[in-house]
Amino acid sequence: MAETYLLIENGTVIDGDLNPPIEDCDVLVRNARIIKVGKVDIETDVPRGADLTRVDARGKTVMPGLIDIHCHMTYGLARTEEEISMYTPPELRTLIAAANIEKVLAAGVTSISQPGGSYFIGVGLREGIRRGLIHGPRMTTAGRYLTTSNGLTDWFPDSTGVPDSSTGRLTNTKDAMIDEIRRQKKGGVDLIKLADSPFGDFQAFTDDELKMCADLAHQLNLKITIHARGDGEMNAAVNAGFDHIMHGNHMSEATIENLAKSQIPLAPTQLLMHHVVEFAEESRARHSIVEATKRMNDATMDSLHRAYKAGVKFAMGTDSGFALVPYGQWHARELEMLMMYTGMSSLEAIQAGTKNGANAMGLPDDLGVIAEGKLADIIIVNGDPLKDIRVLYQPGKVETVILNGEVQSFPDDIRSRFIRNDYLPHEYGWELITYERVYEGGEIPKTQLDWSGEQRGDVLNDLRKLTKLAAEPAAE
Ligand SMILES: [Zn+2]
Repeated sequence: MAETYLLIENGTVIDGDLNPPIEDCDVLVRNARIIKVGKVDIETDVPRGADLTRVDARGKTVMPGLIDIHCHMTYGLARTEEEISMYTPPELRTLIAAANIEKVLAAGVTSISQPGGSYFIGVGLREGIRRGLIHGPRMTTAGRYLTTSNGLTDWFPDSTGVPDSSTGRLTNTKDAMIDEIRRQKKGGVDLIKLADSPFGDFQAFTDDELKMCADLAHQLNLKITIHARGDGEMNAAVNAGFDHIMHGNHMSEATIENLAKSQIPLAPTQLLMHHVVEFAEESRARHSIVEATKRMNDATMDSLHRAYKAGVKFAMGTDSGFALVPYGQWHARELEMLMMYTGMSSLEAIQAGTKNGANAMGLPDDLGVIAEGKLADIIIVNGDPLKDIRVLYQPGKVETVILNGEVQSFPDDIRSRFIRNDYLPHEYGWELITYERVYEGGEIPKTQLDWSGEQRGDVLNDLRKLTKLAAEPAAE
């Protein structure tokens, strides 16, 4: 195959590895890898007659593509857990996920990891991208979360159980856990996801079970991660040697010390929880949920500030896939969350959003940094994210997305496409309809039917008349 060269000229390079930005810097890419960072001389650095693409990045920022290690492509912009776990057949759910994934890449997220989703749809998406059937970022994926009767994803009463369509698998015994991990390995996953208690107020797995799952996953060359909001499961997951951990909302000093020493990346994935509170009005979330989330966010602010001071390593996760965090819209806002909730600098947040996610992608030495020999997943941003991190999620600011050394192109209307899974709540109406509520003054309004007319007894006709009355309220 002929070699192709890509030259990004005169940009300000942020390397993703905490080095100060280099101004007026070129980046030369050969095929999928970066071969030079610095002043490039085409005469000597590029063979004569080679296939060369040049991109002018003067006045712009050149940095590694973002790595979002917590992105749920099968959730389909969900509003409720029922929607995620019950509705939309798998075939359609797969197509919807495939249609949404390009939006993620267009936002400058060149890698995602899906820590849990319906069926083996994640594996299908990953393979579809590899084979060029769909346009999307690099991807690694888990299958269904392993849970217990006390963990996240066992949402429904036992009479319903954890349905096959759910994002969870009920594994209440060690044997069930072993069985599920082995089946998922065969199904082609890259990682195992465990679901501890929803809010972290108790451990849903024992310490032994975590250790056993981690050891088996590693024996099968899989990575393993966990939804861990509480102190107990955080500490147990560190001790069990998990590869990266999600959330960490409540952590004691001892757990923080343990986590910092391990250098296991923590992806707080605070964006969803933050949006629950910040956009409570717009999303019409229930008051009790907003209040509880606000309390958790306050505790998270405290835990993560202490964790940052202790030297904990952070990575970027967003929980994209909910209606509150649509695909391709907010991913980089997690970097703003990391700055707000930990106290880190914008340079450190960028490292969290790039280099520190590389391990979850199975490419710890190849990804997330702009340096010679690394894979060329690069974004060019019209703005300075060190001065204002928000340029990374403002529409149109990420001007160029380069994946595997290739400049990507996208449909013009990509930001306005929202494709969601079906929601079929079998709804009869949400509000309680009492006489006092609907007839506020106690009197039945004059717009009611006159039942004494000649159409008396004709139910269908009465209904037609009622509908007409409702559509055209009587003129005052
Ligand atoms: Zn999640």
